[in-house]
Amino acid sequence: MTSRIPLAALLVLLLLGPLVLPESIVTIMNYTGLFGLVAIGLALLTGIGGMTSFGQAAFVGVGAYTTAYLTTQMGMSPWVTLWIGLAATAGVALILGALTLRLAGHYLPLSTIAWGLSLYFLAGNLGFLGGHTGISGIPVISIFGLPLDNGRRFSYLIWAVVLLSAWLTLNLLSSRQGRALRCLKGGRVMGEAMGINIARSKLIVFLISAMLAAASGWLYAHLQRFVNPTPFGLNYGIEYLFMAVVGGAGHVWGAVLGAGLITVLKEWLVDYLPALVGQSGNYEVIVLSVLTIVLLQRAPEGLWPRLVALLPAQGNEPAPGGIAKQPAQARPLHKRSRLASGAPLLQVQGATKRFGGLVAVDGVSLEVAAGEILGLLGPNGAGKSTMFNLISGVARASAGEVQFLGRSVGSLEPHEIARLGVSRTFQHVRLLPQLSVLENVAIGAHLRGHAGVIKSALHLERAEESSLLAEAAYQLDRVGLGDHKNVLAGSLALGDQRILEIARALAADPCLLLLDEPAAGLRLQEKQGLAELLRKLRSEGLGILLVEHDMDFVMGLVDRIVVMEFGQKIAQGLPQQIQQDPAVLEAYLGSAE
Ligand code: ADP
Ligand code: MG
Repeated sequence: MTSRIPLAALLVLLLLGPLVLPESIVTIMNYTGLFGLVAIGLALLTGIGGMTSFGQAAFVGVGAYTTAYLTTQMGMSPWVTLWIGLAATAGVALILGALTLRLAGHYLPLSTIAWGLSLYFLAGNLGFLGGHTGISGIPVISIFGLPLDNGRRFSYLIWAVVLLSAWLTLNLLSSRQGRALRCLKGGRVMGEAMGINIARSKLIVFLISAMLAAASGWLYAHLQRFVNPTPFGLNYGIEYLFMAVVGGAGHVWGAVLGAGLITVLKEWLVDYLPALVGQSGNYEVIVLSVLTIVLLQRAPEGLWPRLVALLPAQGNEPAPGGIAKQPAQARPLHKRSRLASGAPLLQVQGATKRFGGLVAVDGVSLEVAAGEILGLLGPNGAGKSTMFNLISGVARASAGEVQFLGRSVGSLEPHEIARLGVSRTFQHVRLLPQLSVLENVAIGAHLRGHAGVIKSALHLERAEESSLLAEAAYQLDRVGLGDHKNVLAGSLALGDQRILEIARALAADPCLLLLDEPAAGLRLQEKQGLAELLRKLRSEGLGILLVEHDMDFVMGLVDRIVVMEFGQKIAQGLPQQIQQDPAVLEAYLGSAE
């Protein structure tokens, strides 16, 4: 992790600041904390999850109004209403999430604007919530009989919540569940193929970000001791997004930094701009927007990564948010029981896939048994990769049937098929370039761990986590990438990235392995190493379906071959037979030779 000195300095400021600093600075600290909480949620949602929300202010409002109403009208304790507010927000977020999270592209951000506006106007128009006047007389929070009745005292509560949230979030991110969340941005197809339920991951980040916002709202209500709809409107929703993005979306401390910067800047602009311009108005919004745009032009990643780069290097720094801890004596993971060699694994019958008028796969049947390598050959565009997608559930067959272990898998989601024991690599490499090689491979072992979100956030899953990392390390050693565990996956040569994908697929402990052109870009020696590994896997009872172009590589390795051309199966048989098959020579080898 990065140097501890900045964190220590922050702690000193938070402990002593409220005692000695002027009131105005303490107020800025408080607002930084309140906004920072929301921004941490957005760092998760936008930076990690790749989902942009302008509507977080509305969730702050749900948290604030829930406690405002229940404490003033029902006489409940703030310590009870906190949990009710979180639950209410989770409920609202679940409904909104179910309605909107499926939306792709610009529609999701647009829908967040829609609900942000709706909740804002709802609060302003509901009589029992005080309309635009709001609710006043919200009680003071007391801790062990000590009333937090001024900003200085309240500061400790705000920052305790911020630090706790940051800790939980960082823990979560460096766990099995965190890796699953990181797949949301740029790794959805890969994550699903590794057994991650992407729809669930989406909902989880959405819920967490909403609940962090609600906690901020609860604090806000009891700091101000009155609420009205204004601070929960759309322009605040936009400001929260600014904070997260300026700080460096995806970085927990970056979000807090962004919150601090924008709070200070806004305060300063509100004070000085009217004097500069000569009349009052909301000019700070304009200046803030322009500054944000300029900053993002200069530093699209936000400020945090820049700041971290300025810190003295810490030896072998792992990937951001990652962990380089070398798993010590981790308990080995549970392994799937092996099937007897020759047992049927995969049966594809008459699989067909149409893309509009194009028939990419046209009534193809094939079988793979345990302890067998089936080569799938064919010129470019023959439909081999599409066949892989049909088997692994990435694409749905237009007709025909795919059976795995005697069970039809045509209607299953890719993560459900992965759970049955199918693992794969991709022709066009799919990995998370910003994570370490080790963490990328650990994604493959996702289904072999069980720790949930709460356990992971509390880091109560460290034993399991080290087992997962040990498994990833073992698979990397096995494929010959053992020396690259802690470098960023994106920095590997393309050939090595393909090998990484094999290690990742193996980490899933599959019984059927689908390899889409694994040897492309490898040197001769590396190809020999790969062939040796595949033979070994076969002898362990694994079934392998192998797409490959290199004839020498395929012929000496596979047991049987199926050849495709224009979506159809044109031949199948033993390698020697295929080499002499006239149709194959014509279609494939003829053109290659
Ligand atoms: P191969 O892996 O054998 O080279 P592919 O399975 O990638 O072949 O492609 C088979 C055919 O299907 C090609 O003509 C390709 O353009 C087409 N195809 C593949 N995926 C899609 C898609 N998602 N949408 C439309 N056409 C596709
Ligand atoms: Mg292909």
